[in-house]
Amino acid sequence: MKIIETHAHIYSSKFKEDRGETIERAKENGVAKIIMPNIDLPSIEQMMAVEEEYPDYCIATMGIHPCYVEKDFNKQLYEVEDWLNKRKFCAVGEIGIDLYWDKTLQAEQEEAFKIQVEFAKKHKIPFIIHGREATDEILKVLKSLQDDDLKGVFHCFGGTVEEAEQIIDLGLHIGIGGVSTFKKAGMDKVLPSIDLNKIVLETDCPYLAPVPYRGKRNEPSYLPIIAHQIAKHKEVDVELVAQQTTQNAESLFQL
Ligand SMILES: [Zn+2]
Repeated sequence: MKIIETHAHIYSSKFKEDRGETIERAKENGVAKIIMPNIDLPSIEQMMAVEEEYPDYCIATMGIHPCYVEKDFNKQLYEVEDWLNKRKFCAVGEIGIDLYWDKTLQAEQEEAFKIQVEFAKKHKIPFIIHGREATDEILKVLKSLQDDDLKGVFHCFGGTVEEAEQIIDLGLHIGIGGVSTFKKAGMDKVLPSIDLNKIVLETDCPYLAPVPYRGKRNEPSYLPIIAHQIAKHKEVDVELVAQQTTQNAESLFQL
């Protein structure tokens, strides 16, 4: 099986002790590449160091996560833009709106999201969206910016069939991860109606480990669990899920 991990914070300090072994386990489990979404300005250095240590395997993206957007976010975005102009990134991310933890900076989050989607369009690369309790707000921003250059992933999808349809109508892909293994999430009802050529695989490690590792540290080597889960709910062969999602990720991120 060859699969692509489209969302792993493998540069996180949670992997400080055993990053090399974790990456070996990923390779043994068929993970061909790992895309690393950035979080904030301080995380850039560590992400770049991991990319340098595992060239052409761990691949950096550039952006500010909504939970880390500051009141004066322009300074953060100047730096993001500077990086995007300086070298090639496979995506802008992770970006979005998160109203679960804190709504005080909602206006700033929305504005920073919009500007970063425009960065992605300008550089003709996709974006990686983090949305929590903010799907309507995110769709509103995306609809206002929709054109042929709009491409990206709605990461960690756990919504309804209607939401999935709206995301796909905008030309985006859907990132499926550990949430698909949580019974309460109801993804067994949603997955059958999402077209396989719109799905990419992800773990979001170190967070959101799939069952049976739920609550523990997540890692890219668990990605086959997600592929099997999708195969089960879509009633197709897991090899088909691996092939199609790999092709989707390679073409979306120009790997
Ligand atoms: Zn993430």
